[in-house]
Amino acid sequence: MLIKYGEMALKGLNRRAFEEQLRKDLAGRLRTLGEWEFTSAQSTLRVGPLRGKTSAAAYAEVDMDAAAEMVRRVFGIAAYARAAQTEKDMARILETAADYFVPHLSAARTFKCEAKRADKSFPLNSPQICAAVGERLLETFPHLRVDVLQPDVTVTIEVRDRYAFLHADQCKGAGGMPAGSAGSAAVLISGGIDSPVAAWMMAKRGLRLTGIHFASPPYTSPLAEGKVHNLLGEVAKYSGRIPLLVVPFTHIQEEIRRLCPEDYFTLIMRRMMMRIAEMLARREGCQALITGESMGQVASQTMEALASTDAVTSLPVFRPLIGSDKEEVVSLARKIGTFDISIQPYEDCCTVFTPRHPRTRPRRSAVEAAEAPLDVASLCAEAAEGAKKIIIRNT
Ligand code: ATP
Ligand code: MG
Repeated sequence: MLIKYGEMALKGLNRRAFEEQLRKDLAGRLRTLGEWEFTSAQSTLRVGPLRGKTSAAAYAEVDMDAAAEMVRRVFGIAAYARAAQTEKDMARILETAADYFVPHLSAARTFKCEAKRADKSFPLNSPQICAAVGERLLETFPHLRVDVLQPDVTVTIEVRDRYAFLHADQCKGAGGMPAGSAGSAAVLISGGIDSPVAAWMMAKRGLRLTGIHFASPPYTSPLAEGKVHNLLGEVAKYSGRIPLLVVPFTHIQEEIRRLCPEDYFTLIMRRMMMRIAEMLARREGCQALITGESMGQVASQTMEALASTDAVTSLPVFRPLIGSDKEEVVSLARKIGTFDISIQPYEDCCTVFTPRHPRTRPRRSAVEAAEAPLDVASLCAEAAEGAKKIIIRNT
């Protein structure tokens, strides 16, 4: 498999570190699918069976189908292609082409050839390589025609430093930056549509995730928490494993209901969530918080409400959906596979305690006064103390 780096290819002197991060991530994920070797040159990572094992038997020992399916979801990859590797010898290249492209070309009507010659000492230049391979393929598959403008299949021959590689059309990768290359952040994850998408977007930019979920049993059912496990399971297929902290939130919500004015319930609850999230994030070595908030979507997502939740944490709060419409978020949720889980009906802790007339433009002093009867420090400490950690795996 040939893997082309995304944006990280542009990162100057840091490029080595990004490549290394991607290689480590891939090695970890592919471990269960065979013994692999990674070699990197010219913005391309070659992933194949371990060195010395290049026989057909070695290929039988690695699960290339499963590996390709996994690679599709790894951040930091712009494109990838399964390829045949041969010696850099024209006779071998022609033989390999006639053999390897049977599945791709049998059903195609038209094709074209492209050659990339990274090794300039190779005796044929790119047009000559294309002409030779094209001729051989037309002989082998007499039903084919060449179409350089809109071919059914593009056959690519890459002559690289040690080997030549042949592949059909490459597949688009997940893009973004390699997992962990940008640091770690804690995502506040509900069972809704937005927060899993926010988590995915920040993982795409190279953040390693920790999940924080507030549960309020018996007001919320274990099924609501199960939903969160399943949602993060989908995100983890892209981001890699995600530790999830489930925080007991019932006592706090009951105290808010007992002691605070109803129209401030949601705001105070969100401030409590942020405080606890910050404590847990710092404990887990995270440098930022992530939420699924979007400007104006609900009462607690006005500018004033967001400012009042930001006021209680000194960590940066990333809200990647802030400028997105619901429709855009839904279409991304469908694409990444979280939508169908999110729309399952189990209520989360917010819906259970929703006030009838929430404040939409809270003044800071008013929120602070409404919150004053709570013993904030001990409630937060108690909740953080009670958090349970579960590891969400990427399989
Ligand atoms: P979502 O679809 O992500 O639930 P939402 O539009 O329903 O978002 P709110 O319920 O107001 O919005 O929540 C705003 C954000 O607060 C969520 O995106 C999420 O980051 C966080 N959040 C809400 N409820 C919880 C919870 N029970 N546990 C952890 N985080 C939560
Ligand atoms: Mg919600």
